Amino acid sequence: MNWDEWNDDDDIDITNEGTDVAVDEHTHVADIHHASFKSLALKPELLRALDDNGFEQPSEVQHQCIPAALLGNDILCQAKSGMGKTAVFVLSVLHLLEPEEKPRHIRCLVLCHARELAFQIQQEFNRFRKHFVDKVDGSFLIKTKILLGGTPVRQDRAALNSETPNIIIGTPGRTLQLLNEGVLNLDYLKFFVIDECDKLLGPESADMRHDVQRIFYKTPHNKQVMMFSATLAEDVRDICKRFMQSPREIIIDEGKKLRLHGLVQYYLQLTEKEKTAKLLEILDQIDFNQVFVFVSKFNRATTLNGILVDEGFPSICLHGQLNQTERLENYKKFKGGNEARIMVATNLAGRGMDFKSVNVVINYDMPVDEDTYLHRVGRAGRFGTKGLAISFISSPEDEKLLEEIRKKFVVDLPVLPDTIDKSLYMSSL
Ligand code: ADP
Repeated sequence: MNWDEWNDDDDIDITNEGTDVAVDEHTHVADIHHASFKSLALKPELLRALDDNGFEQPSEVQHQCIPAALLGNDILCQAKSGMGKTAVFVLSVLHLLEPEEKPRHIRCLVLCHARELAFQIQQEFNRFRKHFVDKVDGSFLIKTKILLGGTPVRQDRAALNSETPNIIIGTPGRTLQLLNEGVLNLDYLKFFVIDECDKLLGPESADMRHDVQRIFYKTPHNKQVMMFSATLAEDVRDICKRFMQSPREIIIDEGKKLRLHGLVQYYLQLTEKEKTAKLLEILDQIDFNQVFVFVSKFNRATTLNGILVDEGFPSICLHGQLNQTERLENYKKFKGGNEARIMVATNLAGRGMDFKSVNVVINYDMPVDEDTYLHRVGRAGRFGTKGLAISFISSPEDEKLLEEIRKKFVVDLPVLPDTIDKSLYMSSL
């Protein structure tokens, strides 16, 4: 299966119908801005697409970043998960891109850490470019292409040789490979975007950072650089700024403000052996639209998913050891929402991915640090909707991390009660 084959118009509900975005009583008022998208002076084609997709008002991060981006500033942005950072760069780039006659040039490169995320970002570009069409033949004026490791490289070569896209969304390794081969030409690049920038440039990702640096040096000096993340430690911010010229630093939420307002969070102390039975019990008891169950390793994901399937749950898994076809199929099944309602995943799915009907996240295994916790639980409660997060605590390290999470994000995180009021985590009640 080819990642390019899946068109967002095919089979996925990509509108916000059915979610109570912006009017949800648990949406934190400060997160949605009262100004309209019109006041951001976006192109009419974009305003129409925003309307088509049910985007009524910009979120705070969009309200603050889009005007700065439209003025051509470099942007370094930290804002909490699920509040629409993707649309910041998607709308800004689509607004600023000038329609081009052929031959087209690659004008925008977006780098991100995971293939599924690259794919999701492409879908976001595609849904907002939809009114930029050729008046004569109705074809899209703006072409996008994803470059992903683990897919046949010769297909990328052939595609890039036959048609130059305006926008590339790629993972660093494959992007660098094609650049080194001379198949990818970034000489005309105007926008360089890094999503989840602390993941790509942070201390634990030396390889990716190296690749990003090498890609960066092969792009023109004069370009607009934009970087985004929900978590951005001081030292990583400094690294990011080395790629930028007098950036506008837009830090919407720090520390305690990163807490997700629609999300209720609990923990449960139990032994390793008790985890699976408890998970099954919870899944039987609670009401959920879709659930993420996070585990520490791929083999644990496979085993746990097998158990859930045997127990009759509509579960699938996502981790880095699956082949490309399985990864995409599982991503699609979960995004579609009908076939799979439980996703057992490793950290691979812990960042950036937007499945809007996920309202429950269970940390079957705790992550290693507070930021990873925040990214994971941020898969529920997207765009201010309600959500529930439950963390299994089974070791002294888990207990220590729980304390650190409480301190850093100033959340209560009490023990899971015997019954949970559904209205706390089900938006439609
Ligand atoms: P982030 O990158 O900040 O984690 P996303 O860009 O993935 O968040 O957006 C989260 C969800 O909110 C997506 O489903 C997106 O379509 C939706 N969304 C973003 N901005 C708006 C808006 N202004 N109005 C309605 N929905 C929005």
